[in-house]
Amino acid sequence: MYTLSLENVSKNYSIVTAIEPLSLTIDDGELVCLLGPSGSGKSTLLRIIGGFETPSGGKVLIDGVDVARVPPEKRPTAMVFQSHALWQHMTVFENIAFGLTLRGLPKAEIARKVSEALAMVGLADYGKRLPAHLSGGQRQRVAIARCVVLEPKILLMDEPFASLDQHLRDRLREEVRQIQKKLGITTVFVTHGQDEALS
Ligand code: ADP
Repeated sequence: MYTLSLENVSKNYSIVTAIEPLSLTIDDGELVCLLGPSGSGKSTLLRIIGGFETPSGGKVLIDGVDVARVPPEKRPTAMVFQSHALWQHMTVFENIAFGLTLRGLPKAEIARKVSEALAMVGLADYGKRLPAHLSGGQRQRVAIARCVVLEPKILLMDEPFASLDQHLRDRLREEVRQIQKKLGITTVFVTHGQDEALS
């Protein structure tokens, strides 16, 4: 859990100003929603925090350290994208284990962490399935588990439930809130839905 501070962060794409200079501090363990209409710069800001985009100006401070030049994989952040972007040829287990394997963790520890993450998102019995054999909601749960298993300090969520129906959105939103509270992860959640932001 880390504090995230943005200091005068701005972004221009040639003549388009995606983000006017913006400053914001998000406390350790806090969940903050970025709410605004399509095109207002929410995703750009999230990508800047995650390291997928470089700001035109300003600083991104994670626990006081400017990470503007640090690549995504070296930041203590993890991002859940709008589309689930799971690896289709890998099982659910393998998808979630992938990042831990890259880190060189022992097999037994990986198995334990993946099982815990699967249980947390309510998919304890789904490890052997392929993403193609899951519903949209289940796939998005796997995407969340894949992030959470890496134990990020800051979780970034870009309209993670945009492709799901209302009922499922409501449920998953509540589940994410529970997980976020339980783990105390500092979280930035992007949405264009006022109801979603408020709840
Ligand atoms: P939101 O997430 O709020 O819908 P975005 O952050 O995606 O908004 O976009 C903010 C603005 O920046 C929009 O005007 C968009 O067209 C522009 N933009 C986003 N990405 C790029 C890009 N790679 N190149 C040029 N313009 C972009």
